[in-house]
Amino acid sequence: MKLNHNFQNLEQSYLFVTIAQKVNAYTAAHPDNHLIRMGIGDVTLPLAPVVIEAMHKATDEMARKETFRGYSPDSNGYPFLREAIAGYYQGFGVDVQASEVFVGDGAKSDVGNIVDIFDSANTILVPDPVYPVYVDTNIMAGRKIVYADANKGNGFLPMPKEGHKVDVIYLCSPNNPTGAVYNKEQLTAWVDYALDQGAVILFDAAYECFVNPGLPRSIFEIPGAEKCAIEFGSLSKTAGFTGMRCGYTVIKPQLEADGVQAAALWQRRQGSKFNGVNYVTQRAAEAVFSKEGQKQIQENIAYYKRNAQVMVQAMKDMGLWYTGGENSPYVWFQCPEGKSGWEYFDYLLNEKEIVGTPGEGFGKNGAGCMRLSAFGDAQKTVEAMERLKGR
Ligand SMILES: *Cc1c(COP(=O)(O)O)cnc(C)c1O
Repeated sequence: MKLNHNFQNLEQSYLFVTIAQKVNAYTAAHPDNHLIRMGIGDVTLPLAPVVIEAMHKATDEMARKETFRGYSPDSNGYPFLREAIAGYYQGFGVDVQASEVFVGDGAKSDVGNIVDIFDSANTILVPDPVYPVYVDTNIMAGRKIVYADANKGNGFLPMPKEGHKVDVIYLCSPNNPTGAVYNKEQLTAWVDYALDQGAVILFDAAYECFVNPGLPRSIFEIPGAEKCAIEFGSLSKTAGFTGMRCGYTVIKPQLEADGVQAAALWQRRQGSKFNGVNYVTQRAAEAVFSKEGQKQIQENIAYYKRNAQVMVQAMKDMGLWYTGGENSPYVWFQCPEGKSGWEYFDYLLNEKEIVGTPGEGFGKNGAGCMRLSAFGDAQKTVEAMERLKGR
């Protein structure tokens, strides 16, 4: 037997391990600390009441012989949820049909598993800094990866490079870690480039709910995207489903290569390796897309966005270069005095009792930057920003 040698090419992810070690050392030495954790990418507000209600109801159905549900008839999701997601898209003017929606257990799984449907000879374009899943899953599959540099010069929104031949392009907007969001012209340039190259865009829309009106929430708002894009949605950051596990992938029938539809391969892949999201969670997800559900989750998103505004104001007050915070729960900024992300991390931890995430953990272009998350408590966010400003 031989193990997959590609795993040896994975970079060890020391980021969150190192952060945990440093934080543990600090709390051990300072038992009466007032640490404020702004490093995590997890939500903190509970599920919306309509979601809880839907789960109770679905649980009761599972308790009775007459209404018990076993294997889902379709691993791509119950029609009630696929229709609800299609209706959600139509609600902001994007034509998505239920048959084009594939329900999964989260965007991380779908983004990671989608590599199965592409040829191993494809060249992959990934922005740097980046959500590590795109890189790691392609390294495991032995793919050649090239990077698109995101930096201060392009506002951490890299654009297509002429003469760069690539097959699969990862885009994440609003971005994790940088919080930067593409506008319509920029996404149009990416779609035109992908069509020209015969490439596919894998569009991670996990943070679309944070986008303010006037900016695109879906790649399918761009003409031609149906022929060159796959979109990944998630209920994790939008509806607090990080522990529930539910997301969706949208693939249009027009996306094909050599006369084969990408959607057909994804359907086959999921049918062979996945048996669907559990019924109770699908009912909970359906409730998110109800009128009342949308109202309730918007309250939570507004709470996080107020935190982000507090953080943005602190960046302005301190005169730091930053991106994000407006259409995103993340603020990404350049550390003061030319400090590295790790140096500034140590300073924040030891002098201000704030935990951030050093940009170095997301790629070489993250050097000298830091990510702060708006997913925390409102009062603590205000206090953290006061501390940051040195008051
Ligand atoms: C959090 C996050 C996701 C969501 O992952 P789930 O598996 O749906 O929880 C996807 N993409 C990015 C960039 C994220 O930050």
